Amino acid sequence: MQNIVVFTGAGISAESGLGTFRDSGGLWEQFKIEDVATPEAFERNPELVLNFYNLRRKQLLESKPNVAHISLNKLSEKYNLHIITQNIDDLHERSGSKNILHLHGKLMESKSSINDSLIYPIKGVDLKLGDLCKNGSQLRPNVVWFGEPVPKMIDAISITKKADIFIVIGTSLNVYPAASLLNYTNNAKRIILIDLKAEQKKGVEVVKGKATIEVPRLVRNLVEG
Ligand code: NAD
Repeated sequence: MQNIVVFTGAGISAESGLGTFRDSGGLWEQFKIEDVATPEAFERNPELVLNFYNLRRKQLLESKPNVAHISLNKLSEKYNLHIITQNIDDLHERSGSKNILHLHGKLMESKSSINDSLIYPIKGVDLKLGDLCKNGSQLRPNVVWFGEPVPKMIDAISITKKADIFIVIGTSLNVYPAASLLNYTNNAKRIILIDLKAEQKKGVEVVKGKATIEVPRLVRNLVEG
């Protein structure tokens, strides 16, 4: 079986109602990154940071996977499928996909603010000041903030190196080191990029369009073709 690696970003979840990073009118526009998504922000104003992620969790619980997430499952009928996502939402999981690596963590998990190995599921929406890990330290969202290391990159690179087909969906490829995964696709016979604002790239088959239209179309071609 050939290996397909799908690398997703906020664009695949946009049509589920979750704003992308740079969307206008989204949550990210109401807050500045440096106020809510850095370790310094959490030190300065933990309540604001927790509240930002509580709002995002509320939005996530009100949303559902869309046909782009769902159609990817069909690939596993014919290929070994791995999904590497920059998204912290759980829409790939909820669509039934397996083999998902979350490069930037998970919105529905908390972790100790002093011990990365103490991770807990979040039941419901809110993580509050005073919610503590078993050692008595404040819990924070289990997400990778700007300026923090991305420990899952090592696994992501080794999965990417084995790709026969590498598919990129809904990412501006602006956030590093995640975007550098494309540098490890030497074994891939095909690299395909689906994005609303995709630009031509050397060695990449570029499909400019909506994930909910273009992903099911590509999946059909790959499974039936
Ligand atoms: P980004 O906002 O930088 O880029 C989103 C990309 O998706 C853009 O290139 C845009 O053209 C494209 N897009 C928007 N709607 C689309 C659609 N319907 N179909 C196809 N493409 C569409 O997001 P990024 O590259 O993922 O990086 C931003 C960072 O912010 C990442 O770390 C990501 O984890 C995080 N983030 C995550 C979520 C989430 O978990 N759902 C949401 C916002 C931001």
